[in-house]
Amino acid sequence: MTLPADALASPAAARLAAVHDAIAIAAADARRAATDVTLIAVSKTQEAEAIVPLIAAGQCHFGENRVQEAATKWPVLRDAHPDVTLHMIGQLQSNKAEDAVRLFDVIHALDRPSLLTALARSMDKLDRRLPCFVQVDLAGEPHKGGCPVPQLTALLAAAREADIPLAGLMAVPPVGLEPAPWFALLAKLADDHGLTGLSMGMSGDYATAVRIGATHVRVGTALFGERG
Ligand SMILES: *Cc1c(COP(=O)(O)O)cnc(C)c1O
Repeated sequence: MTLPADALASPAAARLAAVHDAIAIAAADARRAATDVTLIAVSKTQEAEAIVPLIAAGQCHFGENRVQEAATKWPVLRDAHPDVTLHMIGQLQSNKAEDAVRLFDVIHALDRPSLLTALARSMDKLDRRLPCFVQVDLAGEPHKGGCPVPQLTALLAAAREADIPLAGLMAVPPVGLEPAPWFALLAKLADDHGLTGLSMGMSGDYATAVRIGATHVRVGTALFGERG
């Protein structure tokens, strides 16, 4: 049996292959196509030296949770790798909206009217419309960000009104609880609102999320190892 030289040379490529395998198995369980699941490699706190091997192994979606960190790391990397799609997955301050629209391709953390206004204004100004996932606070954990469920309908309506492209819903379930019911709730909310994108699932639970319909999984540790 021959393996690509990269798979042997790089632990990153081996981890990436393992995550792809797990996604494929979970998707098959759910009678879904694995190609309907976008793997976002969460590269927060990782240096370029850790990111480049993953790009070399074929990974092209990356996620960061801080505008400042992304702004120092990614412009150089993207010059060298123009195929990369960059996802903003962390809480976003309104005063960073313009930087975020300039730097990222997809936003996963639209969660309140003030941010919506700032994003819409920045998208108009830069003439660059980014798909946005609306982050939902499923369990009443406001410190994590996310729109409270009772306010979701109004926020989605305001986003449509402001011509913000809606990619779907995103959530981070409570730590320490069985994630499946939260993923199912997010899927139902998306369905109720006519949205197809579901950004859910991290290193510990992405396979579960794929079985329940995740279209975007955000995986850090399983690809890069423990963050320092
Ligand atoms: C850090 C982070 C992830 C990735 O977490 P891992 O457990 O390392 O896979 C996913 N989503 C969000 C919002 C994060 O902040």
